[in-house]
Amino acid sequence: MMHIHTARCSFCGTQQSPTTPLIAGAEGHICEACVRLANQVVTSWGRKRTLSDLHTPLPTPAGIKARLDDYVIGQDLAKEILAVAVYNHYKRLTHESNNAGIGNETETVEIGKSNVLMLGPSGTGKTLLASTLAKIVGVPFAVADATTLTQAGYVGDDVESILVRLVDVAEGNIARAEWGIVYIDEIDKIARASESATVVRDVSGEGVQQALLKLVEGTQVKLPQKGRKRSGGGEGGEELTLDTRNILFIAGGAFSGLEEYVSRRVTPKQGVGFHADMLDSSKKLSASELLAETQPADLRRFGLIPEFIGRFPVIAMLEELNEEALVRILTEPRNALVRQYKKLFNYENVELEFTPEALKAIAHKALARGTGARGLRSIQEQILRRCMFEIPSRKTVVRCIVDEAAVNGKGEIQVIDGEQPAETKDNLQSANGE
Ligand code: ADP
Repeated sequence: MMHIHTARCSFCGTQQSPTTPLIAGAEGHICEACVRLANQVVTSWGRKRTLSDLHTPLPTPAGIKARLDDYVIGQDLAKEILAVAVYNHYKRLTHESNNAGIGNETETVEIGKSNVLMLGPSGTGKTLLASTLAKIVGVPFAVADATTLTQAGYVGDDVESILVRLVDVAEGNIARAEWGIVYIDEIDKIARASESATVVRDVSGEGVQQALLKLVEGTQVKLPQKGRKRSGGGEGGEELTLDTRNILFIAGGAFSGLEEYVSRRVTPKQGVGFHADMLDSSKKLSASELLAETQPADLRRFGLIPEFIGRFPVIAMLEELNEEALVRILTEPRNALVRQYKKLFNYENVELEFTPEALKAIAHKALARGTGARGLRSIQEQILRRCMFEIPSRKTVVRCIVDEAAVNGKGEIQVIDGEQPAETKDNLQSANGE
């Protein structure tokens, strides 16, 4: 009998063999199965920690709304709806995770997930609201553009690519990603051709809806390693599986024309017959009226499939931004555009000022573009371009004042020099000329 000491796994006692290699430690050994098990255990620790991290600071709906107010102007109705949806979602998750595994069969009521559908014109703050919510709750956030998504097998991004991005944002931490928020933009653009349009039926749009449906409902998604940033997840070379059950999906779209559909139905019951169609266009419904009256059938007209609509039980409406709101957007939010440019000019020791009329004129220009608040930055950029080009080389400037004329191209930005001795200025100018 040979007395070769065969090592055993110090955890499960399995003997070392050519098919069962062991990793040697200082005092013991471990087999592959135990490494995997240990990995699972440790991962679940990580998960619990993520959940408990979140548990304490989850603000109340009113608290969430108050924090949204710091970043997003107006849209009170949408803010309230979103605050409640997000609060309920994470309340449910924290409860479920705290009770998980403690023989919880008595809990018969299962709270469903409330994904949110945001309807509102372009540039009114849909993406901003979704991303700010994620920031407030402290969960990873990813945006996807529905129009770039395709059914698996077609050219373009699979819907799974959204999750890959989410995991990247979560720095590879799957547990964190599983609690994230995903915003899917332009959801109205993947609708199949509307019911009334008879000819082309956009089948791939419907296919994407079907694919998204699965994600939204909650499924185990295998994430490809290819193209995914490897970052500290510790998952080795294995395929990652992500459970989408607890991800909050927020879908948004302009749904232009929705109002027409709705008001056509709502407005004049008294105007029997064809008059009905003629009366309504003059009346504009407010966001809350529109919300109250919008029915799944109206969304179906946009070609959203009923199952998809059913998965987004919470609907939030955003209002078109008016001139006053745009002026506030320019100046009030934490990182308002005007503040950003002021800071930029401050770096050059220059005070930047906008007259109230100038702000209105900028808002007015943005309104004309019809892209909501989106146009504001490029308009400002255009106005200030010349100034930003010159200021860094003109050290004497202390103030720049933008007035209405400067905005409308009828005048220049007033540039005010400090009291500098004349010769310094000359020096500078000659220096610039070189
Ligand atoms: P969309 O509704 O098309 O998703 P976004 O949220 O992307 O619009 O808005 C584009 C930009 O316009 C934002 O980054 C933000 O700077 C600004 N903006 C839009 N709406 C608001 C708002 N209500 N309050 C503050 N800023 C806004």
